[in-house]
Amino acid sequence: ATKKTAPRLNKPIARTPPKLSSPTKVLYPDDGYTKLDVANYYTAVMDHLLPEIAGRPLSIIRCPSGTANACFFQKHHTPGMELVRFVRLKEETGNNANYLVVDDAAALMELVQFNALEFHPWGAHADDPDRADRVVFDLDPGPDVPFAEVKRAALDVRRRLDEIGLESFLRTTGGKGLHVVVPLAPVDEWTLVKRFAQSFAEVMAQSEPDRFLSVASKRLRNKRIYVDYLRNGRGATAVASYSLRARPGAPVAMPLAWNELGALKRGDAFTLADVPERLKRRRKDPWAGMTKLRQNLASFAGAE
Ligand code: ATP
Ligand code: MN
Ligand code: MN
Repeated sequence: ATKKTAPRLNKPIARTPPKLSSPTKVLYPDDGYTKLDVANYYTAVMDHLLPEIAGRPLSIIRCPSGTANACFFQKHHTPGMELVRFVRLKEETGNNANYLVVDDAAALMELVQFNALEFHPWGAHADDPDRADRVVFDLDPGPDVPFAEVKRAALDVRRRLDEIGLESFLRTTGGKGLHVVVPLAPVDEWTLVKRFAQSFAEVMAQSEPDRFLSVASKRLRNKRIYVDYLRNGRGATAVASYSLRARPGAPVAMPLAWNELGALKRGDAFTLADVPERLKRRRKDPWAGMTKLRQNLASFAGAE
């Protein structure tokens, strides 16, 4: 006799997000955007944002009194969070801590209710935190670098990655720079990924020292671009695609196709005001197929 098994739910039961308190509170004073505007923005981009952060340890930037006042970076689960899950992970100090994990829209909206404006996931999943599935090259221009140079740097990173067989993807940060993102099949551990990212940045700095540097020094940066490889390590984060930034204009970290780079004017070109419309008009996700690529750093590991 065949045993009867319980039907499998292929969809989680939709949970109700918490009621938004203080919807008229202004969070972006320069622009007049309220907490309700922020909630509406996140509702509008939810289907695009969730795949970027779901199931990953997540840090957030909360601005309870708006972006003009103190904001804080939070990586741990705190009392009052009921829809946001946590995963217990070992920290660098050796202690365990409860890291935030969002699985669905309700949990994300709970963080919005807590005045979260920015979302910063790990490059790994909560159930496999030691294996990276993303490398992020974070291009940070010095104060005297024209944006055209940042664009050229992103193309150089792409070309250099292509030369070693790695496909990469582009996004604005909503800030001053650009991110070049390399998806990995999650087989590589952080130690290897970090070594790869560091040596990649060092090779760029050594071959074109007038354009690039691979050390964080702000003093040395000036007219050069810091190839910030430190987004790549266990516990490191980078801003999520479609996240708002807690900066004037409410800019958005926006994934782009490489052929859109030419027309791009600035890193904060996309904002709360225009991204939802843009997503409706967009015919194709510029990062489509990214998670199906099965590339990894095997050849780099072998070369060592
Ligand atoms: P920009 O283009 O202006 O550089 P960005 O998002 O790349 O924007 P960075 O200052 O280069 O900003 O920071 C890169 C990443 O480092 C951030 O996206 C964030 O995930 C992480 N980060 C920033 N501030 C902190 C912080 N206080 N603590 C931990 N991680 C941080
Ligand atoms: Mn940056
Ligand atoms: Mn940086």
